[in-house]
Amino acid sequence: MAEVAALRKPERLRASAELDYPLAPPQPGDSVVEVAPGILWARIAMPMALDHINVYLLRDGAGWTAIDTGLNTPASRLAWEHFAATHLQGLPIQRLICTHSHYDHAGQAAWMVERFGAQLCMSFGEYFMLRGFYGPPPDPLPPLQQRFYRRAGMTDAQIEHMFASLRRDPFMPPVPESYQRLRAGDVLPIGERNWHVLIGEGHSPEHVCLYHSDGKEHILIAGDQLLPRITSNVLVTPIEPEGDPLRLWLASLDRLDTLHPDTLVLPSHQSVFRGLHARVAELHAHHQQQFALLRSALQDCPGATAWVLTQAQFPKRRHAMDDLMAMGETLAHLSWLRYQGQIGRVLDDDGLYRFHLAGAPTAPDEALSETHHE
Ligand SMILES: [Zn+2]
Repeated sequence: MAEVAALRKPERLRASAELDYPLAPPQPGDSVVEVAPGILWARIAMPMALDHINVYLLRDGAGWTAIDTGLNTPASRLAWEHFAATHLQGLPIQRLICTHSHYDHAGQAAWMVERFGAQLCMSFGEYFMLRGFYGPPPDPLPPLQQRFYRRAGMTDAQIEHMFASLRRDPFMPPVPESYQRLRAGDVLPIGERNWHVLIGEGHSPEHVCLYHSDGKEHILIAGDQLLPRITSNVLVTPIEPEGDPLRLWLASLDRLDTLHPDTLVLPSHQSVFRGLHARVAELHAHHQQQFALLRSALQDCPGATAWVLTQAQFPKRRHAMDDLMAMGETLAHLSWLRYQGQIGRVLDDDGLYRFHLAGAPTAPDEALSETHHE
């Protein structure tokens, strides 16, 4: 779901001592920081716990290429007007690249195309996610979506409470009418640099990262694929209920792990950093910790539903959106464990999916398949 972009749970691992933050961040909607010649780092405020997004401006011939947009808010539009008037030497924003479809990254895309005449570039998957999920969730919820959350162990009241808050989401963006496609392996000349399009999966279907490496300079525009101190959401949702997005996510991290160790990482949130390999290792460790936590919860509570396990994995939740994130993340970890053969899933007589450790007496031969008692 596109609207899941904005909220992230706090990272449980401690911030790594191995990461290096060479630059102080810019003030949201105000200053810019030159991270390398012709590459500006700016910030746009967001009205939520994660209170900003980083955007980047790359000098590009007779103008600029912008990376990501901020949420669909007046504050974002004011910030862009200020950047254009103050920091771009009077040159136009000719091109806009949205790393992915989430509203903090693409929420202002239609406006920027209109206001600055910028050409929008996105991957196919992200552009059509944006088009497909424009607008609030349907009311009432379609039966398959309802069933997805019921089977996970939520009551109808809990499901309704969760979606009521999504229907109030004030950030629904207008959809840009056309785009130019970016594909894995494309090389994009921007100014003096050639940027390689790398695709990440798991957080969103076809997330674009841009990598430049010329022997002396190594820069990754990472979007949400590599954040220094928080983990990105990786969710199973009713769109793809049998998906295994964590497998895709971890494989994407491994691909980033092959980049140069001195790469300067330009993330979409928090600060520009070095220490890519250390961060990839930390993120792997984080998910291993989550897998271990779920295995031990299933040891204590065989036959638990995803909703019950969500309490173990994410005990502190305040908003309905937190429930949606937690449910999606718990299901993603359960799917990974299930496809790895470490746990089994049974659709019980009461219509709920119940999970067991593989080989546990309650779940004979259930490592990879499910039994329908319907
Ligand atoms: Zn995102």
